[in-house]
Amino acid sequence: MDRIMDASRREEGIPQLRPQNLSEFVGQETVKKKLQIAIEAAKVRNEHLDHILLVGPPGLGKTTLAQIVARELGVNIYITSGPVLERQGDLAAMLTTLEKYDVLFIDEIHRMSKPVEELLYSAVEDFQIDIMIGKGAGARSVRISLNPFTLIGATTRAGLLTSPLRSRFGMILELSFYSPEELAQIVERAARLLNMEIEKDASLELGKRSRGTPRVALRLLKRVRDVATVEGKKVIDLETVLKAMHILEIDQLGLDGTDRRILKTIIEIYNGGPVGINSLAATLGIEPDTISEVYEPYLMQAGLLSRTTRGRVATDLAYRHLGYSRQKGLFNGIED
Ligand code: ADP
Repeated sequence: MDRIMDASRREEGIPQLRPQNLSEFVGQETVKKKLQIAIEAAKVRNEHLDHILLVGPPGLGKTTLAQIVARELGVNIYITSGPVLERQGDLAAMLTTLEKYDVLFIDEIHRMSKPVEELLYSAVEDFQIDIMIGKGAGARSVRISLNPFTLIGATTRAGLLTSPLRSRFGMILELSFYSPEELAQIVERAARLLNMEIEKDASLELGKRSRGTPRVALRLLKRVRDVATVEGKKVIDLETVLKAMHILEIDQLGLDGTDRRILKTIIEIYNGGPVGINSLAATLGIEPDTISEVYEPYLMQAGLLSRTTRGRVATDLAYRHLGYSRQKGLFNGIED
């Protein structure tokens, strides 16, 4: 049994939807291969698995992969996140609970406080920590030995980590967006587990509209199921998917209202850009980090937005997709 802390915000209600082993995990072939070899080697040598950094936008499967790694190693996994670990004591409490070769998963690892990050350095390097007990004149430092363990960190971009932290990972694995076909496979597997039938063209359409992201695909599947239920349909067909997408205002490229608002703001208010992330965030009323970590990666991947040194720019494709004529930008003296 996994012992999972602070996993509540992650669970999507139907835990068995999460793939249980590497063979059930769709896509990310290079990442899986590297993990498989490292896991095998650690088992043969009877050593802890080297520390791993998983990099990629939210919802691509970082937590799921960490759980799979722990399961394949036959160890416990403890799940926490950078912002939750406020004080050194919070991290020390988790570290001292770890048994030999257990996995500690820290999501948003770039958002740990400085003291917590520093405590982690010696923990991952020497499997020991020095903590201060007491306050003032009576305070003293106590060294605690830890069981060898594996740290799996997750972050949206490796560049967000300080270089001392980054250098402590033996493997840095980058996850990429999934193809519509891979997402269709994920949708079909989930549908089977939820006892639903879905037609091939319907699952592929869902795959196309899921922003390359399994979490989005699974969320959309549930909304499509609602529409099917209300309409009394036993099998989910393309028509049901299209109807649900219309209700959710998700367009052919999988963009939702916020995606379109970001692009429209760049086009209408900033004449297509370039616009700095902070000005854009202030105009939209969305946190700059949320724009750059959650929304932009897919908009860039879809070729709708580009990041330049002078700021964000809406591409020709973005103009066309949203039905604007590029003339407007040219008229206002903005070059391509
Ligand atoms: P992250 O930690 O990167 O934000 P998660 O691991 O929480 O993403 O994954 C989000 C959801 O998508 C989970 O429900 C998970 O089961 C599902 N999922 C992610 N990757 C895959 C995959 N490759 N195959 C099947 N399901 C996946």
